[in-house]
Amino acid sequence: RAKEKGKNNFQLYTSSLNDKALERLALENSLRRALEYKEFVVYYQPKVNTKTEKIIGMEALIRWQHPKWGLVPPQKFIPLAEETGLIVPIGEWVLRTACAQNKALQNAGLPPLTVAVNLSARQFELQDLTKMVSKILEETGLEPKYLELEITESIAMKNIEHTLKMINELKDMGVKFSIDDFGTGYSSLSQLNSFAINKLKIDKSFVSKIDGKKGNSIIASTVLALGKSLELGVVAEGVETKEQVEFLKQNDCDEMQGYFFGKPMSNEDFEKFYYNKLKES
Ligand code: C2E
Ligand code: MG
Ligand code: MG
Ligand code: MG
Repeated sequence: RAKEKGKNNFQLYTSSLNDKALERLALENSLRRALEYKEFVVYYQPKVNTKTEKIIGMEALIRWQHPKWGLVPPQKFIPLAEETGLIVPIGEWVLRTACAQNKALQNAGLPPLTVAVNLSARQFELQDLTKMVSKILEETGLEPKYLELEITESIAMKNIEHTLKMINELKDMGVKFSIDDFGTGYSSLSQLNSFAINKLKIDKSFVSKIDGKKGNSIIASTVLALGKSLELGVVAEGVETKEQVEFLKQNDCDEMQGYFFGKPMSNEDFEKFYYNKLKES
């Protein structure tokens, strides 16, 4: 009787659901199966050294190759994956794939690159994150010095004690840390200074403002100066124009990443791209 009532309630409920909620439900259901059906792929975007413009690293960026919807960008499903907790197994898969594919590049005889992997809040909160990372490094044979983990300012500032613990544990293993989308969140500078991080990544919204007018590049120059005084490397993301490249060179930015140098691409395309760049130089 209770069961029947529950059923009716459910029907009532679904008939009142709006399209958005239904869409979300469909998304959640397919997201639950996507790992099992091997629908995720990792794309890689090159990072270059500002002085030499040589490729020195790659950032792993997830895509969802959905059979009907095509290539789904992360902003379309990461928030839901985060909400449902699915980000934990998905993120672990990304990390394993990125480490394995980076190691395979080295095995193919190409000069080693660092690989940067984005961590979500849920993953960063895991008490056994360090264990998970070390297990994956062991399984894939990738040396820890080639792995960089990216967390946003808001994730880093959420629970300072936990952040200190995680960064120190991973740092002891030899893994590097970057603060992603820097400038878009709220950072306490004294806290930032206490984290054993390696790099700040200037958010692309500030890089896109670099257009030759001094007032517009003020945030970018400020982050670059901050990085310098904290003795951190600074990476500019979203670099699209020659003008931005010149500005970043003049302002001692360490690394650049953006469409100007290469869009995110499949592992196969990245390998070809990297190989061709090496041949050119
Ligand atoms: P993010 O980590 O800040 O990555 C940089 C984003 O900027 C990427 O978007 C990249 O494709 C884009 N981008 C790079 N250069 C340019 C440029 O010159 N112009 C423009 N307009 N955009 C550029 P994407 O791949 O769509 O990823 C968006 C965000 O999704 C990432 O931002 C990251 O926060 C998240 N994400 C991606 N992969 C993962 C993942 O494996 N795990 C988690 N937790 N988050 C991920
Ligand atoms: Mg990132
Ligand atoms: Mg970023
Ligand atoms: Mg960003």
